[in-house]
Amino acid sequence: MSPPRPKAGGGPKAGRRGAGRIHRDRPDPSDTPDSEVRFIQPFQATKTYLCPGCNRDITPGTGHMVVVPPDAPDLRRHWHRGCWNNRATRY
Ligand SMILES: [Zn+2]
Repeated sequence: MSPPRPKAGGGPKAGRRGAGRIHRDRPDPSDTPDSEVRFIQPFQATKTYLCPGCNRDITPGTGHMVVVPPDAPDLRRHWHRGCWNNRATRY
């Protein structure tokens, strides 16, 4: 019942290593370059999130993206993988 949850407050550049499968997708130049984008594996998704791309739920067990703004790690957003990719090409 305790998924690996990075501690907020240290900032994304705290140099966390080996904290699991942090997968960095190719950064999109149109998005904030400093935002940290991670892929949440299906087994790591244990809660329901609201995707800002389509305003629908990301149900538990769904692999998705999480985007962490460098200045506000508490404001990280969870996206469907497809929504994130569409957003990247749309803007
Ligand atoms: Zn979505």
